[in-house]
This record gives sequence, C-alpha cells and structure tokens, in this order.
Amino acid sequence: MSRRAIDSDVLIVGAGPAGLAAACRVVESGREVTVIDDNPDVGGQIWRGEKEKPSSPEAGVWFERIRNSTITFINGARVFQQPQSGLLLAECENDVCELNYQKLILATGARERFLPFPGWTLPNVMGAGGLQALVKTGFAIAGKKVVVAGSGPLLLAVADYLKRKGADVLAIAEQASRANLFRFGLQLISQRGKASQAYKLRRQLRGVKYLTGCWPVAAYGVDKLEHVILQQPGRRFDIVCDYLACGFHLVPNLELPELLDCKIEDGAVTVDELQQTSIENVYCAGESTGIGGLELSLVEGEIAGLAATGQTTKARELFGNRDKQRKFGRLLNRTFALRKELRSLPAGDTIVCRCEDVCFESLRTVSSWREAKLHTRCGMGPCQGRICGTAVEFLFGWKAESVRPPVFPVRVGSMSVES
Ligand SMILES: Cc1cc2nc3c(=O)[nH]c(=O)nc-3n(C[C@H](O)[C@H](O)[C@H](O)COP(=O)(O)OP(=O)(O)OC[C@H]3O[C@@H](n4cnc5c(N)ncnc54)[C@H](O)[C@@H]3O)c2cc1C
Repeated sequence: MSRRAIDSDVLIVGAGPAGLAAACRVVESGREVTVIDDNPDVGGQIWRGEKEKPSSPEAGVWFERIRNSTITFINGARVFQQPQSGLLLAECENDVCELNYQKLILATGARERFLPFPGWTLPNVMGAGGLQALVKTGFAIAGKKVVVAGSGPLLLAVADYLKRKGADVLAIAEQASRANLFRFGLQLISQRGKASQAYKLRRQLRGVKYLTGCWPVAAYGVDKLEHVILQQPGRRFDIVCDYLACGFHLVPNLELPELLDCKIEDGAVTVDELQQTSIENVYCAGESTGIGGLELSLVEGEIAGLAATGQTTKARELFGNRDKQRKFGRLLNRTFALRKELRSLPAGDTIVCRCEDVCFESLRTVSSWREAKLHTRCGMGPCQGRICGTAVEFLFGWKAESVRPPVFPVRVGSMSVES
C-alpha cells in the first residue's frame, strides 16, 4: 500500500462543527492546519452534505470561513493508529497517510446509542440519525410512515427533517418522563437561543404526537418492519409503520482518544480549561468531551484552536460562553438519562452484538466485557463493539478495558506500513 506523508503544525481529527471551528482559529493565526475526516465531505453529523447549501445562517458563516482559508482537508480517511507520539496513520481510498503534527486536536464527535429489544435488527429499523443521514444522501422517504423513538433532542430534529422531506411521521416516542421534560422546558427559558430553537421545532412538528415516558418494546414484520409496539406506563399499543428511527441519546466517540492514552472519566475525554487532554500537545473538543450540543462543540473547538496556537488570552475570552453551554449540556444529560426499565427490553434470544450474532441469553452466563469477548465474541466483529459495547455497558455495567489498533477495520496492507 503506497503512503504519503503530510506535515502540519496542527492536525485535527474530525471535520464536524468542533473541528471546523478549531481549524478556523488555527489557520487565522497563520499556522498550517490539516483536518481529516472519514466522511466524504466536511460538516460532521449535523452539517452533513451542507457545504454548498447550508441549512442555517450559522452553518453558512462557518462554511464561508473555511472556503476562504488555506486549511488542508483530507476526506474519506480514517485515522486508525498511532505508531509513535506525533504521528498518526489514516487509511484513505487508495493509500495510507502518515500524519505528522506538532499539536493534535481530537474532535471525533459522538454516535447514537442503540439498545436491543425484540425485532431491533429487522430491516427498516434504523438509527434516528442514521435514517436522517441516509435521506440527506438521497434516500426517498416521501410518503413513508415513520415512528421516531428513543431519547434526546435529536429525535425532534430527525422527525422535523423527515417530515420536511415528505415522510408521514406518526409519532415521536421519548423515554424521558413528562416531569423531566417539563423541568427541561422551564430551564430553557433562561437560554433564549435554545428556547426559540425548541419552540420552532415544536411549531414545525405541529400535528405529530410527542409521547413522553414512552419507548419501543418490540418491532415485528416478516421480511422487514411492519409494526412496532410502544409502551407507556400502564399501556402498550401497536403502530403500523414502514420505518422505526430509533436512538437513545448520544455517546462520545472515544476510541482514538483512548488509543492515545488520554484520560477518560464518566464516558468522556477529560480536558483542562484550555481543552488540553492529559497528554501533552493533544487537545480535545466537541462531543468527545461530553454531549452538549452544537454551540458547545463550536466554542470548545475555537478554544482548542486558540490554545493550540498559543493564543490563550483570546481563548479565555470564550470561557464564559463555554460555561453557559456546559450548563446546558449537563441539563441535557440529566433530562435524557435512561430509565432503568430499558434494561429489561431484550428477551433471551434478542441479538445484542449484531456483528457476531450474540444474543442476550449467552451474555447472562459471563460477568465482564472481557469474558463476553472471550467466550461469546461479543464486540469482536467489524464494528469492534461500537454498537453493542454501549448497550452492554448500560445493560450489565461492563466497560471496555482497552482499545487496540487499528481502531477501525482496515486493509491488511494499511496495517503493514512501518513507522
Ligand atoms: C447521527 C447523528 C446525527 C445528528 N444530527 C443532528 C441534527 O440533526 N441536529 C442537531 O442539532 N444535532 C445533531 N446531532 C448532534 C450534533 O452532531 C452535535 O451536537 C455536534 O454538532 C457535534 O459536533 P462535533 O464536531 O463534536 O462532532 P461530529 O459532528 O460528530 O463530528 C465528528 C467527526 O469526526 C469524524 N471522526 C471520528 N473519528 C474519526 C477517525 N478516527 N478518523 C477520521 N474521522 C473521524 C466523524 O466521522 C465526524 O465526521 C447529531 C449527532 C449524531 C451522532
């Protein structure tokens, strides 16, 4: 496999809002910056495919800033290994990049959390953000009956997007209780921007049922999804639909920070006030430091970019905004904390690890993530526990013990690149 070397003052992994904000601050200081991302284009999860047609004025401003810059972007490339400090390897379509850097900013974002329940592996049961991403890349959803379920504000964003694309959104099932959501609403009043976003979404979703304290318990169909059973305290009911878009809030992507030995606490990368991790010259920004929404990702990215280029006074000017956004993040995580009833969703024969076909029953016979891997192959397939690992942590409280390279499956030829 051929290789090419790319040297940068600052290397950023992740071209979502955090990575882009960091890159702007770095390049505007006159340093060379490279941003690498595994998606075909920049934007991360929320601004996927929006570079030419931003969905909001805010996205437009950031895309304009990067368009007029000298940032080097490498897309469609996955960072999978650190052979030595100051060097990362990324697999691209036809070669391997050797990325040398002075400073590194990790902005690896988050992914959806999936919880297993009977029928969750049926065709047309998808991640909420996953279905949204498919539709953004051209998948036709007009006229299809969709139930959106799980937890978190992403459900509203997805339902709104699918509705605007012509889907018949039958219901949004949010597992958080009505009381939690009421308190969330009250707290939002003090954050004018967030309150108006929430109000706008609710207005756009007028006519779509928002069921609180409600979650999917089973999905049925012969070859693909035909109907879903939802539960609310005291009642169960059935909805006939074409798609179930289901995700239980978000979890940070920690594989790369863990590989680099960055300290992780409470499921997120630990950073100091300048977004530096426990490893010198390695910074982290955005959802990998904890789930907190778009504005927090942006301000953390800016602070990391400024700090990595020695502009600490400017970085400090942004601390006030970051504190405010972090407060919102804490509120989000409290409001959408998962209820314990969700632990009893899987039946004995419900598949938990879909890569290796490991069912819930066989996991009951082991007592740790390591044993589960050794005895059942849970988490040993192509996704390397990205999907089942978070489910297993919620169901059994087992945490992954270590991360080994490659952090993504890669071609054998890519692995053989010498450092
Ligand atoms: C599926 C999904 C859909 C979402 N949709 C919405 C929405 O519609 N509205 C909304 O308000 N919020 C949405 N969010 C939440 C939103 O993404 C966050 O609030 C925030 O914007 C995240 O920004 P970020 O820069 O931290 O991360 P992200 O936007 O997640 O960007 C991180 C990027 O890093 C890349 N990456 C990670 N590891 C590697 C690696 N090893 N090598 C190369 N690249 C790597 C990822 O592919 C990704 O492009 C969504 C989240 C998810 C997970």
